[in-house]
Amino acid sequence: MTAQDCLFCKIVAGDIPSTIVYEDEKIIAIKDIQPVAPVHLLIMPRKHIISLNEVDEKDINLLGHIQLIAASLARENNIAANGYRLLCNNGAGGGQEVLHLHYHLLGGRNLEWPPG
Ligand code: 5GP
Ligand code: ZN
Repeated sequence: MTAQDCLFCKIVAGDIPSTIVYEDEKIIAIKDIQPVAPVHLLIMPRKHIISLNEVDEKDINLLGHIQLIAASLARENNIAANGYRLLCNNGAGGGQEVLHLHYHLLGGRNLEWPPG
């Protein structure tokens, strides 16, 4: 899949509507269209990276930035105190459906372990 065909690149570009809850020059965070928890956000880089299989040292700042913003969004959404989950599905076997790196921020209910 090329960036031109990528659903999340289209969301980043504003060609497909989404509810953006945070954005800066590096990343955006949107509400998941089919939430599986009371808080379900997707945090993604603006640039097209397929998965963690494609990252290298030049992406360290980007990946660290995503985690700091995730923690800040957890506080803003009042899920920090009870607890939340930040996860990144990688590849078909990891449950990744949209091939543009993204992190799920889930909270607002007690999450089970192990995942399915
Ligand atoms: P994955 O399985 O790739 O880790 O997660 C993809 C996520 O993207 C799913 O939770 C799915 O509900 C969400 N999603 C798919 N299409 C759209 C869309 O058009 N808009 C938004 N906001 N979320 C989407
Ligand atoms: Zn993309």
